[in-house]
Amino acid sequence: MTARLLDGAALGREIRAEVADRVRELAGSGRVPGLAVVLVGEDPASQVYVRSKGKACGEAGMHSETIRLPATASEGELLAVIDRLNADPAIHGMLVQLPLPRQINSEKVLRRIDPAKDVDGFHPVNVGKLVLGDPTAFRPATPYGVQQMLVRSGIETKGAHAVIVGRSTIVGRPMANLLMQDGPGGNATVTVCHSRSRDLPGITRTADILIVAIGKPEFVTGDMVQPGAVVVDVGINRVDDAASPRGYRLAGDVAFAEVAERASAITPVPGGVGPMTIAMLLRNTLQAMEQADAR
Ligand code: NDP
Repeated sequence: MTARLLDGAALGREIRAEVADRVRELAGSGRVPGLAVVLVGEDPASQVYVRSKGKACGEAGMHSETIRLPATASEGELLAVIDRLNADPAIHGMLVQLPLPRQINSEKVLRRIDPAKDVDGFHPVNVGKLVLGDPTAFRPATPYGVQQMLVRSGIETKGAHAVIVGRSTIVGRPMANLLMQDGPGGNATVTVCHSRSRDLPGITRTADILIVAIGKPEFVTGDMVQPGAVVVDVGINRVDDAASPRGYRLAGDVAFAEVAERASAITPVPGGVGPMTIAMLLRNTLQAMEQADAR
């Protein structure tokens, strides 16, 4: 392997420690940031994410609550929980773990969250603020984490051609917005690709920074990457693996071994973007409390 490893676990710890320092300072004046996570149903991956969010909050000295509803919960029941959390002064940020069961309209649920508590940044008000470059926007944690990883690893985005593969509202679109903004971790020339893009390998080979978020294990191969590119793999996929005690292993969207031979820097999976996402969620919750205090 020739590429430098971008260690999201270490960078995530660094950011969580910064958040914890600030939380300690604020505790002196009796203020404690609070995050509520709402989980509907028993999706195993969602349960893992929710547990790690609660644990990370505790370690940072924050208050956290997990509200669990059964998979059969109605939309009305979930909206009532959101209304209660919107009104709760101890809760500064909240998120509803996606995906939601089929009987619930996710759009309606995300729009019910008070934009001032929408630490996932999925409410249209925060999406709009992000596009406008308003610093009070909550930046969706995963692309925000990728941007912080680039900045803190000394990777220059200014003037670089950043190619993002995937246009989801959770990763690809906000990632494009963050990278095209004027400021640190921005000023890139951004191309966004998706399943209808013609000649994807031809486009990815022009990337100085290649960010992949498509949900297809090891889809990006070495021949799709320009020598010396920085490659960020957002994908987290469970791949059957009889040799693993769990029966599966985690794989990214990038064929790590062969891409690491061409790239100058690359994120591992796990231990890359995942830990950054949780760190940025804590930072957003702190931002939510500080903005609430300033109002
Ligand atoms: P979505 O399924 O919402 O979006 C996938 C995107 O990839 C779509 O825009 C789709 O295009 C595009 N796509 C799919 N196939 C291809 C293809 N063959 N060529 C080009 N584009 C393609 O996924 P998410 O953005 O939610 O998640 C992507 C991955 O990132 C998943 O593995 C997920 O688990 C992971 N993830 C990781 C997080 C973390 O914390 N590390 C957080 C969030 C997600 P189209 O729009 O045309 O259908």
